[in-house]
Amino acid sequence: MSARLLLLGGTAEALRLARRLGPETLYSLAGLGRVPDDLACHVRVGGFGGAEGLARFIAAEGIELLLDLTHPYAAQISHNAAHAAAIAGVPCWALRRPGWQPGPGDDWREVDGWDALIRALAPFERPLFTSGREPLAHLHEIPAHQRWTVRCLQAEPAPPRAEVIGARGPFALEEERALFARLQCDVLVSKNSGSAATEPKLQVARELGLPVLLLRRPQLPTVAREFAEPAELYEALQAHL
Ligand code: NAP
Repeated sequence: MSARLLLLGGTAEALRLARRLGPETLYSLAGLGRVPDDLACHVRVGGFGGAEGLARFIAAEGIELLLDLTHPYAAQISHNAAHAAAIAGVPCWALRRPGWQPGPGDDWREVDGWDALIRALAPFERPLFTSGREPLAHLHEIPAHQRWTVRCLQAEPAPPRAEVIGARGPFALEEERALFARLQCDVLVSKNSGSAATEPKLQVARELGLPVLLLRRPQLPTVAREFAEPAELYEALQAHL
């Protein structure tokens, strides 16, 4: 592949694609997670300064195709990507990973944002949050009848009635069963990321008959080409380049 690509990452799919691309590709990370140092493509870390900054970067670097493989809840960068591609006059292709779908016996409840989540959690005592860092800012507001467990990328000290577990997926089914058993949680909080790497917790919730509160997916922009599967995107790339 020889066209100059800018790959916006932050997901396992993006890293897998980056591993297949050569030095003509720039692989861009926000810098919150691990930065790989064993790739053939160039890695850059940090923001661009909004859509306009990204558009300037695209022009300055001679980027011919923008690839958005960011997380489905990273809505800002996806909107910036669509806008910047339009300004710079290059196509933007995106991987739009489908969300999980409930099966028989699932009790999934969708919530819109933090306040709605806290209201929906009121009847429960031991929530397990697997929805990122947002609960960490609210550990001093834990209702008196609740004990929270927050699983996110990095552990940190927690006040009484809270535990913060640092862990990175993928999570195996057996590990998840053991975690739920240890915590005795009565409700799971999650984004609907649609990733196989974090799906086993939903199976454990199903096995235990636990409700799952899912933060609603953000709206993402429409771009030139959208793919549900990484393999389809890769095939289209090979045909395009
Ligand atoms: P966000 O709210 O959509 O983006 C915030 C800002 O971070 C963007 O405006 C941009 O800064 C910068 N940014 C985001 N992704 C970038 C990338 N790939 N390369 C360069 N700059 C980037 O994103 P977020 O929710 O904070 O997520 C940050 C990163 O973590 C994303 O790359 C995402 O794929 C990954 N991630 C997010 C989640 C999640 O649940 N949100 C989960 C797993 C992984 P400028 O405006 O300065 O360009």
